[in-house]
Amino acid sequence: MGSPRRLASWLRSARTWILLGILAPIGMVAVSAVMLVEMRWDAWERAEQTSRNLLQVVERDIARNVEIIDLSLQAVIDNLKAPGAAEASPELRQLILFDRAASAKDLGVMLVLDENGDSVIDAAGWPARRLNNADRAYFQAHKADPNLGLHISQPLVSRLGGNSIVVLSRRIDKPDGSFGGLVLASLSLSYFDRLFARLELGRLGAINLYRRDGTRITRYPAVAANIGANIAGSTNFELFAGARSGRVVGTAVRDGVERLYTFTQVGDLPLILNVALATREIEAEWRVRALVIGAVVLVLCGLTIGLSLLFGRELRRRAAVEAELARLSRTDALTGLANRRRFEDALSQAFERFGSGSDPLSLLIVDADHFKRYNDRYGHAVGDAVLKALAGALAASVHRPDDLVARVGGEEFALLLPGTGAEGAARIADRIHAEVAALAVGAAGIGAGAVTVSIGLATAQSEGGASDLYGRADAALYEAKATGRNRTCRALSAGPDGDRGAIGHGPNRPRLRLAEPASASPRRL
Ligand code: GH3
Ligand code: MG
Ligand code: MG
Repeated sequence: MGSPRRLASWLRSARTWILLGILAPIGMVAVSAVMLVEMRWDAWERAEQTSRNLLQVVERDIARNVEIIDLSLQAVIDNLKAPGAAEASPELRQLILFDRAASAKDLGVMLVLDENGDSVIDAAGWPARRLNNADRAYFQAHKADPNLGLHISQPLVSRLGGNSIVVLSRRIDKPDGSFGGLVLASLSLSYFDRLFARLELGRLGAINLYRRDGTRITRYPAVAANIGANIAGSTNFELFAGARSGRVVGTAVRDGVERLYTFTQVGDLPLILNVALATREIEAEWRVRALVIGAVVLVLCGLTIGLSLLFGRELRRRAAVEAELARLSRTDALTGLANRRRFEDALSQAFERFGSGSDPLSLLIVDADHFKRYNDRYGHAVGDAVLKALAGALAASVHRPDDLVARVGGEEFALLLPGTGAEGAARIADRIHAEVAALAVGAAGIGAGAVTVSIGLATAQSEGGASDLYGRADAALYEAKATGRNRTCRALSAGPDGDRGAIGHGPNRPRLRLAEPASASPRRL
């Protein structure tokens, strides 16, 4: 029973709704923040996966092509050593040396150079196109190092075709092991462009191929000034060269764009390949969604806060109205004093306290004398004014915060005096007579001394209840009226035959044994 009621009162509280209005948006913001962070992670995860897939496809293609070319170079070297190759006619030798790979699309030239760098055999036909490449770095490298194996050059401009190429070469040893020249194949950079052009990298994305020494062989999309540049020593390249494959987020020095670089070594070749996707583009879609979700959440939060505040304010207003209504329901409209309902509540509460303690409790019932005549002579409005003045006089007669002055009937008032004994109550009754004697309603020509009241005084007894107290006070009032009015009569204790007062008026007033009037100074209207 208790908890549903507690829940209901919790839901009616303005503070609950204001609290919900703050907590709900905080919850919404927290949940959407977690969701957005996860969506961002997903975007990055997808980008990395895409990069890895692209990288794998491209790496395999390059590795396979370079391997095919290398096999052709090795075939030339092997065929040169074949018995009778040296003696064969140049035309025949040209046919023997180069297999079909020599006619592959991107394979530019395939030449054998002698130890002086002069072209001696040309895959394109006999006689070989005349050329001396002794000055090329790859020639010098093979000459200096017999164990270089397959060498991949920096990007070069072909002396025969004029196009951009890389040269793949292998050293030819003379029978005595000394440098006998080299066999080379040029691979057009257009091969890479075609390969990379198929990839979807976004507007700021790029794919780069480097030699292990940091020389960029190619980049897609092409940035002419960048081809052949060496970026060895840059932070990014250190990372690329430091592992066989991996990922790193870095900012390019050239354009200041932050990118996710996914890199790998190409097969077992001295080549490093990377796919770079711009961070901005990886997050572009996420950013739009984040903006939309953020805006929606903010609007919802604003609405929730606004509605909760409004609802809270409405509840508070309603509570204030209810409190005012409750106050009014316990207040007498004419005099502003406590009304009968409040008086009865206060009386029973006072009795509970009286029952559990030793403090005395007194009650005065005050009734205006011959009040009917005021109405008859001056009219009802003046009667009301007199009642108000009377109320003021009564309120002025008591000072303790626990004292309660109430209007319990038409021209009948009650003063509940907790902690006040019979003597104290009699003094207050005297004060009331004095205040009322001084009362004048100038506008109606009612002067001081014209209005009088009769007072019944009773003091609570341990064996009697609230109605007993009221009944005895009322009976004392009746006695005061009967013995001439404008006086206070004090009730005696209830008799053994159960003579007790009862709330209310009527012909069946209980008989009471009364003391002499406490004060008697009759004044007549
Ligand atoms: P008594 O001395 O015996 O008390 O005489 P009384 O005339 O005061 O008593 P009675 O009970 O005969 O009449 C009470 C009158 O009080 C009746 C009514 O005209 C008047 N009265 C009651 N309530 C109001 C009120 O709110 N305003 C006004 N103006 N008169 C009221
Ligand atoms: Mg009266
Ligand atoms: Mg009366």
